[in-house]
Amino acid sequence: MCGIVGYIGNREAYPIVAKGLQRLEYRGYDSAGIAIYGNGELKYSKTKGKVADMRRKLEAEIDPSGTIALGHTRWATHGVPNDINSHPHFSNSGNLVIIHNGIIENYDALKKELTSRGYSFSSDTDTEVLVNLIEDVIVKEGVKLGKAVQMTLNQVVGAYAIAVFDRRKPNEIVVARLGSPLAIGIGKDEYFIASDASPFIEYTNNVIYLEDGEVAVVRKEKGIKVRKIEDDTMVDPYVQELQLNLEQIEKGGFDHFMLKEIFEQPAAIRDTYRGRLLADEGIVSMAGVDDNLERFLNAKRIIVVACGTSWHAGLVSEYLIEELTRIPVEVEYASEFRYRNPIINRDDVVIAISQSGETADTMAAIKLAKERGAFVFGVCNVVGSSIARETHAGAYTHAGPEIGVASTKAFTTQITILALIALKLAKAKGTISKSDFQMHLQELETIPQKIEVALESNDAIREVAFRYKDARNCIYLGRGCNFPVALEGALKLKEISYIHAEGYPAAEMKHGPIALIDEEMPVVVIATRKGHYEKVVSNIQEIKSRKGKIIAIINEGDTSVRELADHVIEVPETMESLSPLVNTIPLQLLSYHIAVMLNKNVDQPRNLAKSVTVE
Ligand code: GLU
Repeated sequence: MCGIVGYIGNREAYPIVAKGLQRLEYRGYDSAGIAIYGNGELKYSKTKGKVADMRRKLEAEIDPSGTIALGHTRWATHGVPNDINSHPHFSNSGNLVIIHNGIIENYDALKKELTSRGYSFSSDTDTEVLVNLIEDVIVKEGVKLGKAVQMTLNQVVGAYAIAVFDRRKPNEIVVARLGSPLAIGIGKDEYFIASDASPFIEYTNNVIYLEDGEVAVVRKEKGIKVRKIEDDTMVDPYVQELQLNLEQIEKGGFDHFMLKEIFEQPAAIRDTYRGRLLADEGIVSMAGVDDNLERFLNAKRIIVVACGTSWHAGLVSEYLIEELTRIPVEVEYASEFRYRNPIINRDDVVIAISQSGETADTMAAIKLAKERGAFVFGVCNVVGSSIARETHAGAYTHAGPEIGVASTKAFTTQITILALIALKLAKAKGTISKSDFQMHLQELETIPQKIEVALESNDAIREVAFRYKDARNCIYLGRGCNFPVALEGALKLKEISYIHAEGYPAAEMKHGPIALIDEEMPVVVIATRKGHYEKVVSNIQEIKSRKGKIIAIINEGDTSVRELADHVIEVPETMESLSPLVNTIPLQLLSYHIAVMLNKNVDQPRNLAKSVTVE
């Protein structure tokens, strides 16, 4: 996920593109760059850091005049954030310039192929491979840029929004998209290209949102031609008139980043398993595990260290990894682990989880584990973060930047990575049958779609939120791998609505907390069908007998719990081990709506920070 901006017309392009990038920084901000063609020259500047850093550097280095430009604010997926990996990237001849948002899954094979034919690469990005592939097609096939982009994209597997121009023909920009957004703003003899409409909202209200699988040639004088990448058919694009203001556009039309990120989860999970979950081939491919498979397979124990929501994802993984691989798992709060002189053996594998990759306590736990000889594997969202660098190996969640302080898509994408690891190890150890393995892969592939269905309950959840927004306390219950989901649901409510909430394993109720139940107490129960269903129904009966108010998360068509509960929220059924991914969605939405109704600052709750870099 990153921000891309382009301009072609008669005005100075640099100020438009630079300001546009600043508006897109919410999409990624680890490095930035702009290339401009003007006065017969292609000029560029790029740097690690924020757009403001890049602007300072660029204005000191080059004359930014010119009427065509492409700019990028990066959120690294391939290669650490540094000057060289920043976009734009250039083809070997120096003629083609590209900016790219997304991931090219088969970049490695393509890179090898191009290298064997004399191409060289200065960056570690997948993007530089793409621009050279386009150049290769132009040279080999003698076709124009638009056609070459189209032919190239037919060889590429992955997700992209790209913009490319050729310095020898600076009157056109070619753009294309698959899985990443791309908007074209239409002015008078000028065009704007961007990941969303915010960079050009003051210049035009007329916009074409390119559809997946489309390529467009945008020419200064001759307008826009759109085609389908796959079969070359012409498309008549729909020009929309925008009614939104700037802030609404940045948040994708959502009121808060948190809500946007909740709704992004289907796409985020697809990005997490893209290129890793290969159901047709019956494999899970994950370089960090593949390269260290022996360490994992010889592990006598896996220790997961994390904090907050990441710790809850770790707890879910305890159920998954133990069940599937039979390797014992311990899940530790990083802050406790680092100070209690833990027993760590050389044949332990430590998995450290952190969205930001900067969590101070997790970092300290990693250092301790390394000192004692353990192999340490990181699961982070932010590429090139301190934890990503400090660990022996790891896997990125590729969830895109998470701006809301209350973590949502980071949680589900962390569980996705951990599920893939569990499946991969189970297959390698022979603790899962071929058919069961295949079933898990296929089911995991359907999870984004099931989350989309779960998200349709948004309005129903808002009504439940209205009913309970004034509660002083709330209890969340779940069993098995949904116990951590109950903990996470309670944490979400505490974090953003400041209502006291507790998560418990449902059966623990009678060992104390049941004393809290009265007619004032809302109890959110995860009562989906797979795993301990009858037991949870009995727990619901126990609470009902004491007049507690039950909000039950159930599977479609469940009538038994529906009869008992005061409110039900339906989610699609999935296998027990993957159900946390779906069941957590209504809990996120419930806390979100309650916080909004209480007028709380949802994206920046009091006393909290996004990345906890102090112990
Ligand atoms: N895969 C590209 C990179 O790592 C683009 C990432 C993005 O969307 O910012 O540079």
